[in-house]
Order: sequence, then C-alpha cells, then structure tokens
Amino acid sequence: MDLFEYQAKELFTKHGVPSTPGRVTDTAEGAKEIAEEIGKPVMVKAQVKVGGRGKAGGVKYAATPEDAFTHAQNILGLDIKGHVVKKLLVAEASDIAEEYYISFLLDRANRTYLAMCSVEGGMEIEEVAATKPERLAKVSVDAVTGVDLATARSIAEQGHLPAEVLDAAAVTIAKLWEVFVKEDTLLVEVNPLVRTPDDRILALDGKVTLDGNADFRQPGHAEFADTDATDPLELKAKENDLNYVKLDGEVGIIGNGAGLVMSTLDVVAYAGENYGGVKPANFLDIGGGASAEVMAAGLDVILGDSQVKSVFVNVFGGITACDAVANGIVKALEILGSDANKPLVVRLDGNRVEEGRKILDDANHPLVTQAATMDEGAAKAAELASA
Ligand code: GDP
Ligand code: MN
Repeated sequence: MDLFEYQAKELFTKHGVPSTPGRVTDTAEGAKEIAEEIGKPVMVKAQVKVGGRGKAGGVKYAATPEDAFTHAQNILGLDIKGHVVKKLLVAEASDIAEEYYISFLLDRANRTYLAMCSVEGGMEIEEVAATKPERLAKVSVDAVTGVDLATARSIAEQGHLPAEVLDAAAVTIAKLWEVFVKEDTLLVEVNPLVRTPDDRILALDGKVTLDGNADFRQPGHAEFADTDATDPLELKAKENDLNYVKLDGEVGIIGNGAGLVMSTLDVVAYAGENYGGVKPANFLDIGGGASAEVMAAGLDVILGDSQVKSVFVNVFGGITACDAVANGIVKALEILGSDANKPLVVRLDGNRVEEGRKILDDANHPLVTQAATMDEGAAKAAELASA
C-alpha cells in the first residue's frame, strides 16, 4: 500500500528523520488555522498518491495564513493525473540551499535491497537516470548487515553529495533505512532531501510503500488504509479475501483462478457483441477453495453492483470439486434469499462435474441456468443481460 506524504512523514518522525512541522486538513479554513499555528510561511501541499504534484500546481508557498487559505481553495478539488485532491498538508516552509535524492527499495531482479542517491534532487529521478546517470548512485544493500552510519555516509558520497554535509546526510539516511526495515516497507523515497542554508538535512517530501505481507505484525499500519478512496464493494470483497475488480459493463463474472476469469472476460465481451455490446461488469476470482461462504460473499458482492444485469459463474473443478462448488452456489442462494435477484448462468467442468450439475438440477432454482460450455454460458449470460 502506498502512503500519502503526510503519513510517510508520520513514520519519518517516529524514527527521528528530520522534516518540517505540519498537519493535514481537508478545508481551506483548516489550512489557514494551521498556518496561524505555525506562525511562519508555509507550504500548502496536495495529498495525492502520485508524483509531480509541484509541476501540476499542487504545491504552493504561502507567506501568510490568508495566502494559505487562497492556495488551499485552489488546490482542493484539483485533479492531478486522475487523483482528486481531498486533503492538504500544511507544513512550515523551509529555506533550501540544495535538493538531493535518496531512496531504499526492494531490488527484485537482483534479490537484494537497493539504495539510490543523487546530488541532483527535486526533479524526477527517471530524468536524472536518463540524462545524468553518472550522478545517480545505485548501491546494493546487504539485508543482513543493513545500513549503519558508515554505509549511509558512503551512499551519500557515491551520490556526489558535498563533503560538508556528508555527516549530517549519513545520520538521516541511516534513519531512513530504519524506517525501511522497522516499518516493513518496499520503498522509502525522499525527493527532495534538502540542505538548508545552515547545512541541516531535511526530508521535505516522502513516499513510502508498505509491504502488505507484513500487515500481521504491523497493527499500527491499519490506520493508514485509505477507506474513502475505495469502492464499498471492493472493501467488502477485500474483507472476504476475494479478488474483485469493478469494470464498466453488465455481466457479473465469478470464476476460480485469475487465468480462467480473465479468459471469461474476453469470451463474454466477444459474445456480448451479438447483444448490442454487452460487456463484463466486474472481475471476481474466488480462488481455489470455493466454499458456500466464499461463494455467498462473492455473489453478494457481484449482486451489490447495480450495473449487473446477469451473472456468469464459470468454474473449472480442480482441487475444489464441482459438487462442492454446486453446493456452495445452492447454499449461497439460500443465504442471500431475496437479495439474489438476477439471473445466474453456471458452467461447471472438471473434477466431479456430473455430480455438480446434478446438484444444481435437483435444486432447480428459478434464477439458475446451466451451460455445458464456456462459450454457451457466455452467450446465455450476455443474452440475459441485454434483455
Ligand atoms: P512533488 O512535486 O510531488 O514531488 O512534491 P514535493 O513535495 O517534492 O515538492 C515539489 C517541490 O516544491 C520541491 O522539489 C521543492 O522545490 C518545492 N518545495 C517543497 N517544499 C518546500 C519548502 O518547504 N520550501 C521551499 N522553498 N520549497 C519547497
Ligand atoms: Mn517530490
């Protein structure tokens, strides 16, 4: 999960990485109040999970609380690369002598960690890599030994930071490594890491990606979840460990395994061409173990999408046999009762297919139609959605 800048800076503060004091708000009045509290010029900064906010007009200097109010009014609601600004960080403005770049990341290709450091900060690092690659140090970091002060200093030196600031930069870089390890992140990036006129080193921006696999041992990270940005159906799916993606069409899709679900999307879109351009409404992978509860949760999510007119359940029985899936569907329809209100086309194949089909035949649910093949099922579901 990517964090907002203000959340990244909370982690920085927790581990002693120096930054500028500030607070987050979602109103222009709030921005003015924070600026008054700080009592010095501030930066008003759009909180969106995308880079290049400065260039897009999402980072503004405000000399007075009134200026902070005006900038906040302009930035709130701004669309930055498809991200609408809902929150602002108002932080004390710092004087800047120089801007540097530092990051730690997981280097999957080389099965190690990587530090990147450059004296050329502020601009996008891809640009530095393209135009002045000799100014960008890439230093692999041993996971076991990590980054102590001496290593941090060497990273800064290889990034061509000037000699006068190497000691101060080393302290901050070592603390950023602490954030990287202790918070179980995949990325910690600071651009710009600034040198102030009095030679202090501050993290003026922060980008952190948390490793979701470590959530179980990072209970404090739950508060970073961006609930209002997430579709309520996606949240419900997530609570039930289902992979759900909302699409634009009319046919709800449930399958087991990402490969099967993706090919089902194609087949439904293709069949839909004969029915006025009917398309898949979503993607829901119930994974290997399609128990009644999982099937009920999946159907509940799909039927909760008001755009859905019909549902295509396409399951290939493997480890989970078709009779278990069929029982799951029957029980799911029982659990959902009158909440299940759209036609269901079910195609079962693979392990114990005969038993599975018989269970559905015997249940004889008025909403369920069986299909013998994937193509037949897709055509039927598209037809029902266009009716
Ligand atoms: P980004 O454009 O999304 O990377 O947002 P940043 O937080 O990096 O801000 C963009 C630029 O605004 C930085 O590279 C700085 O040049 C400038 N900036 C940010 N904070 C300050 C500050 O406190 N003082 C000054 N003078 N400039 C700042
Ligand atoms: Mn930046």
